[in-house]
Amino acid sequence: DSSNTKLPFQAEVAQLLHLVTHALYSNKEIFLRELISNASDACDKLRFEALDHPELYEDQSELDVRLSFDKAARTITITDKGIGLSRQEAIENLGTIAKSGTKDFVSKLSGDQKADAQLIGQFGVGFYSGFIVADKITVESRRAGLPAEQGVRWVSAGAGDFEVADITRPERGTRITLHLRDDADEYLNAWKLKQIVGKYSDHISLPILMEKEEWKEGENDQPGDMVKTGEWETVNKANALWSRPKKDITPEQYEEFYKAVSHDYEAPLAWSHNRVEGSTEYTQLLYIPSKAPFDLWNRDKSAGVKLYVKRVFIMDDAEALLPSYLRFVKGVIDSSDLPLNVSRELLQESRDVKAIREGSTKRVLGMLEDLAKKQKTAPESAEGKIDVGSGESVPAPDPTESAADVTDVVDKKATPAAEAAAEYADESGKYARFYAEFGAVLKEGLGEDFGNRDRIAKLLRFASTTSDAVSVSFADYKARMKEGQDAIYYITADTLAAAKNSPQLEVFKKKGIEVLLMTDRVDEWALNYLTEFDGTPLQSVAKGAVDLGKLQDEAEKKAAEEAAESFKPLLEKLKEALKDKAGDVRVTTRLVDSPACLVVQDGGMSTQLARMLKQAGQ
Ligand code: ADP
Ligand code: MG
Repeated sequence: DSSNTKLPFQAEVAQLLHLVTHALYSNKEIFLRELISNASDACDKLRFEALDHPELYEDQSELDVRLSFDKAARTITITDKGIGLSRQEAIENLGTIAKSGTKDFVSKLSGDQKADAQLIGQFGVGFYSGFIVADKITVESRRAGLPAEQGVRWVSAGAGDFEVADITRPERGTRITLHLRDDADEYLNAWKLKQIVGKYSDHISLPILMEKEEWKEGENDQPGDMVKTGEWETVNKANALWSRPKKDITPEQYEEFYKAVSHDYEAPLAWSHNRVEGSTEYTQLLYIPSKAPFDLWNRDKSAGVKLYVKRVFIMDDAEALLPSYLRFVKGVIDSSDLPLNVSRELLQESRDVKAIREGSTKRVLGMLEDLAKKQKTAPESAEGKIDVGSGESVPAPDPTESAADVTDVVDKKATPAAEAAAEYADESGKYARFYAEFGAVLKEGLGEDFGNRDRIAKLLRFASTTSDAVSVSFADYKARMKEGQDAIYYITADTLAAAKNSPQLEVFKKKGIEVLLMTDRVDEWALNYLTEFDGTPLQSVAKGAVDLGKLQDEAEKKAAEEAAESFKPLLEKLKEALKDKAGDVRVTTRLVDSPACLVVQDGGMSTQLARMLKQAGQ
């Protein structure tokens, strides 16, 4: 019978299911968050498709999500009036992992449950999280626009396979029934379910409804119980979080929203929520994550900012909204000016989008500057000194945006978990954490965003010959420059050890001149775009004849000249012997202990860049 078919899960799904049911056990309740967020996504998709095809509403344009439970049958049901699934979509979307990100994730699983549970959170396991509490899941659905007879029932016990059958389902959308495991009794309780909705799904813009219950006294010595009244009530706030006034939003709600939009498990480092008014009006709620995703280096992967137009979801990952070097930023931008049917192509050309992109870029740089400032001024050991959960916000006014723009950068407040609270109380460590995760990406901005190059340069941090920690800014460096020093010296290498032990540093060490040690692969490329900082030129110690200028005393200069003169015959011989390999051979003052070193001619390709190109097969 073709209507009732048994199909195996894709290998990755089977793996994921096993993990979900075991590793996520300590955080069971997230299943509800995932299923409600899918219901909400399904409604967003319907609204979007209905922009061009209003008939998809089938005279039912009031969308909501209904949550109910049946104590006797031990089931929880989540019903939406969203886009629904066709038979084929049910097979494809519920039986395979379509997203490459998730596939990638599965391939990284170590088999160590603790580590894997961490990983899983970074991706969000979505639909399959239902199997944490259910030993069987039934999905009944009909896709918007299809006739009632083309409904589908999908059933699985979460082991190796699932079954699909054709059903008749007059209602559009999806109903998911979880048949609870024996140890999941706690969820057969209205209070418990409401509490979870409040915790994870309050920001969902769709109403989430539950049937009202009332207490009924028991008769004939039977105990009383709660009974359903047949009346439904909304149990979440039901308006989009970013559209609410800031004063009504708690840090916990901001965090939950972040986790929902980013699929991140950890709390963000910082966020910024503003309404920008003026010629282009929009709301931005932007977050800086505390951990880099696996695919950070994939520049083709667009940014994590969702675009809404007047609260209607338009698209994920709208790359036109932020430059690529800020692709780590997550959040939402809601415009009041763009047309609802805006396409990716239109986005690229829109003047409003340009204004949004510029405003959002400035906002993110502002957030980073704010974190950097705190990093600098906070005491080394902040324990006990910083008021945990003090909750005050830090204004970061931006003169380039209109005065109506209310701004703040609110950092993490106290969380119930004392451990997390202690960690986040240490404001002073946040910029270092950010930089360790995303600093190398930020550097791409030097080559990508000329307008903000100076601001980006100020945000950069390096190790140096006086600091192993990647914490030295160009400004710090300049403040420590020796009298007579007129350049910022740096060296690029593959590792910190290689940089530190380079013979090219000898003379700098001897004279006590600090040299920045650059070990990120992008440094070489990025520094092509930064020739000076605040009027002081940047100079690679590995290039050309390093001119120490006024730092070199007369006696040294004279000694060098004399040496060059007396070694002339030797130099000629060396030049002749090395004529295919070296462009020039000269007497140097840059070495103290080593007899010789290689340098790159001024304007030449650095040794590190040459190595990189060679690796790339060029
Ligand atoms: P994600 O939501 O990140 O895409 P999920 O595992 O949560 O991943 O869901 C997988 C897919 O199943 C969704 O992308 C969607 O196509 C489909 N799906 C899940 N729940 C629903 C629903 N309530 N209505 C329609 N489609 C759904
Ligand atoms: Mg999902």
